[in-house]
Amino acid sequence: MEQCTSVEREVDKVLQKFLTYGQHFEQSLEELLHCVGRLRAELARAALQGTSLSATLSSVMSQCCQKIRDAVQKLASDHKDIHGSVSRVGKAIDRNFDSEICGVVSDAVWDSQEKQQQTLQLAIVEHLYQQGMLSVAEELCQESTLNVDLDFKQPFLELNRILEALHRHDLGPALEWAVSHRQPLLELNSSLEFKLHRLHFIHLLAGGPDKQLEALSYARHFQPFARLHQRDIQVMMGSLVYLRLGLEKSPYCHLLDNSHWAEICETFTRDACSLLGLSVESPLSVSFASGCVALPMLMNIKAVIEQRQCTGVWSHKDELPIEIELGMKCWFHSVFACPILRQQTSESNPPIKLLCGHVISQDALNKLVNGGKLKCPYCPVEQNPADGKRIIF
Ligand SMILES: [Zn+2]
Repeated sequence: MEQCTSVEREVDKVLQKFLTYGQHFEQSLEELLHCVGRLRAELARAALQGTSLSATLSSVMSQCCQKIRDAVQKLASDHKDIHGSVSRVGKAIDRNFDSEICGVVSDAVWDSQEKQQQTLQLAIVEHLYQQGMLSVAEELCQESTLNVDLDFKQPFLELNRILEALHRHDLGPALEWAVSHRQPLLELNSSLEFKLHRLHFIHLLAGGPDKQLEALSYARHFQPFARLHQRDIQVMMGSLVYLRLGLEKSPYCHLLDNSHWAEICETFTRDACSLLGLSVESPLSVSFASGCVALPMLMNIKAVIEQRQCTGVWSHKDELPIEIELGMKCWFHSVFACPILRQQTSESNPPIKLLCGHVISQDALNKLVNGGKLKCPYCPVEQNPADGKRIIF
C-alpha cells in the first residue's frame, strides 16, 4: 500500500504540472494571437492606404516575431521540464515494485499451454466454489468451457448451503449433517456436534423462563458428550438458575456472546473440510500466499544466478534452487532432503533406503555405484544397488 501511495504522489505532481502548463499555454497563445491580429489589422490598413511599410510598423512586426519565438521557446522548455517529472513516475514504479516477476517462473513447469490454462482455470473455479461464490464459478465454467462434473461441485455446494444457514443462525442443516457424520467426526476428535447442541440450548435459554422446560428436555442431547465436555455442560446447567432473572444480567452472560456463532462457522468449515478431504483454504489462496512470501527471495536468487552466469542451476521442473521458509502454516507433508546431494527428493529422484538402513536419494545412489557395487557413505557396508528400496512418505 505504501508503495502505491508513493507512486501516486509522483503521478499527482505530474498531473498538477500538466494542468499549470496547459493553463500557461492557453494564455500565451491567446496573447500571441491577439498581438498577431492587431498587427495584421494594421498591415491591412497600411496596404489599403497604399503606403510603404513605416519604420514603426516594421519594428512592431519584428518585435512581434521575437515575442512569438520567445514564447515558443519558453513553452518548449517548460514542456521539457515535465518530461523529468514523468520519468520520475517511472523511476518511482521501478523503485517500489519488482517489474520482472515473470522472470522467476519458468514456462517449462507446464507440459503445454493448454494444460497451464486448464489447471489455472480449475484452481480459480475451485477457489470460487470454496468462497461460496457459486454463480461466479458457474459463469467462469461456462465462459471457459471448463467441464466440472457434479462430484467435484457437490461438497462445496453442501458446505455452502450449511454455512449460509449458520450465518442466518439456523442450526438445522448443520446439526443434520453433524448427526449423519457422527462417527467420523468423533474419530477426528471433533466437538462440532456438541457445540451445535450447545448453541441451540443457549438459544432456548435466551427465550427466558417460558423456554425452561424445552431447554431441560433438550439437555438430553448432551448425554453422549458428558464425559468429554463435562465442564461446559455444568456451566450450561448452572445458568438455568438465572433464567428468571435474565441470562444477560447473570454471571453466565458470556453464553449469549455472538462470537459463538463465528466460532461454530469456523469449527464447521474446518471439520467438514477435513472430513470431505478438502483443504480449509483453497489451493489457489495457499499458493498465492506462499508466492507472496517466496517471491522476494526468488527474485534475489534469480539476480544472483544471472550475475554469476550459472543459468543451469534452476532447471528442475518441480524444485526451487533454494529452500524457502514459508512458516508452519504451510507445512503440509514431510519432505526428505538427500544428505549426500543436499537436494530435496522428488517423484523423479525418490528417496531410497539402502540395505543397511541409511536413506539417500536415487541420484546420489546412481553416482555412488562403482563397478556394480555400492558402498554406503555412512557405514561403509558394501551392497548391491538393486537392494535399495524406494521410500514413500
Ligand atoms: Zn549405511
